[in-house]
Amino acid sequence: MGKILVTGGTGFIGSHACVAFLNAGYPVVIMDNLSNSKVEAVARMELITSKQARFYQTDTQDVDGMRQIFEDNKIDAVIHFAGLKAVGESVQKPLAYYENNISGTLKLLQVMEEYHCETMVFSSSATVYGCENPVPYLEDMPTSATNPYGYTKVMIEQILRDICVANPSFSAVCLRYFNPIGAHESGLLGENPNGIPNNLVPYVAQVALGKLEKLRIFGNDYDTPDGTGVRDYVHVMDLALGHVAALEYGQKHTGFEAFNLGTGNGSSVLDVVHAYEKACGKSIPMEIVERRAGDIAISYADASKAKEMLHWEAASDLDKMCADSWRFTLQNPKGLS
Ligand code: NAD
Ligand code: UDP
Repeated sequence: MGKILVTGGTGFIGSHACVAFLNAGYPVVIMDNLSNSKVEAVARMELITSKQARFYQTDTQDVDGMRQIFEDNKIDAVIHFAGLKAVGESVQKPLAYYENNISGTLKLLQVMEEYHCETMVFSSSATVYGCENPVPYLEDMPTSATNPYGYTKVMIEQILRDICVANPSFSAVCLRYFNPIGAHESGLLGENPNGIPNNLVPYVAQVALGKLEKLRIFGNDYDTPDGTGVRDYVHVMDLALGHVAALEYGQKHTGFEAFNLGTGNGSSVLDVVHAYEKACGKSIPMEIVERRAGDIAISYADASKAKEMLHWEAASDLDKMCADSWRFTLQNPKGLS
C-alpha cells in the first residue's frame, strides 16, 4: 500500500484526521508550513495512536519541496487541508488568500499530476452555500461566496471538477464542513488558534479560562428561536472519521463528488454557551453587541448524502463537543508549544 499525504496535517482538523488515518492503518506523511500550527501536534498524534507519521515542513508554494516528498514516498492520495481560513482577514488581504489557497492548490495538483497521483480529498466548507440558499443545505444547490476565503473554496471545487472532466481516472472528494469544534478526548490535541480567536467556541474557551473578559454575542435579533445565530456544530473527531470514509470512497470511484459533513442539527450561540457552562462548571460572562458583518442567521446541513454514500454520520452531541474542548483547554492553557 502507498502512503497518504496530509497537507495542513498539523492544523486543527488535519491533526485529528491524521489520528483517524493512523488508527485506520494508513501510512501517513504530513506536510505543513507551520504558519498556523505547531510541530508538537505530530508528537501528540503519535502519543495517541502509538504510530509514527513522517513530517515535512514544506509550503504548497514550494514545488521542488513537494516533488521531494513524492520522490521520497509513494503517495497514493492527498488529503488537502493546507490553507488560510480567516474570513475577516481574507477581506483585508485578498491577494494573500488567492495566492496561498488557489495558487498553492494548483501547484500541489501539478506535482500530483507529475507523479500520477489521482486522488484528492479536499477541505471545502459550508461557506460555498453563500447567502441565498435555504436551509438545510443540499450538495446540489448552487455555490457562491461572500468573501475571498469563500471564493477560494468555490474556485478550488471548480478546478477539481474540471480536472475530473479532463482526466477520467481522477477522483476528487470535496468535504463541505459545517462548524468543526471539540478536541480529541485525550485532551492531547485540539484547536490552537494564534492570537484572539475569531470563532465562537475557541473564544468561549478563553473566556472560561479567564484569559478573555467576556463573550460578545453578535446580535440577538435574528429570525431564529432565541434571536442568536444558528450553526451546525460537528465534533472534529467525527469530521476526522469522515475523511477516512471519503478516502475509501475516492479510492473506489472516479470523478467529482461533494459531501456535507455536519450533524443536520442547528444550535444557537446561546445553546453553545449553555453547553460550555455545563462542561466547565462556570458561568460565561457575555454581552449582546451588533451583528457581525457578513454573518448569516442560520446554517445547517442536510447530512443524508454522506450517510447514504459514505456511510458516515456524526455521533457526538454538543455537550461532548464542549466537554472535549474544555479538557484540551484546561490541559493546554497556552495551546501546543
Ligand atoms: P488550521 O489553520 O488549523 O490548519 C491549516 C493548516 O495548514 C495549518 O497547520 C497551517 O500551518 C497550514 N498551512 C496554511 N497554508 C499553508 C501552505 N501554503 N503550505 C503548507 N501548509 C499551510 O485550520 P483548520 O481549521 O484545521 O482548517 C483546515 C482546512 O479546513 C482549511 O482548508 C480550512 O479552510 C477548512 N475549513 C475549516 C473550517 C473551520 O471552521 N475550522 C470550516 C470549513 C473548512
Ligand atoms: N459568534 C459570536 N461571538 C463571537 C464569535 C462568534 O456571537 O465572538 C457567533 C457568530 O455570529 C455565529 C456563531 O457564533 O452566529 C458561529 O460563529 P463562528 O465564527 O464560530 O463560525 P461561522 O460564522 O464561520 O459559522
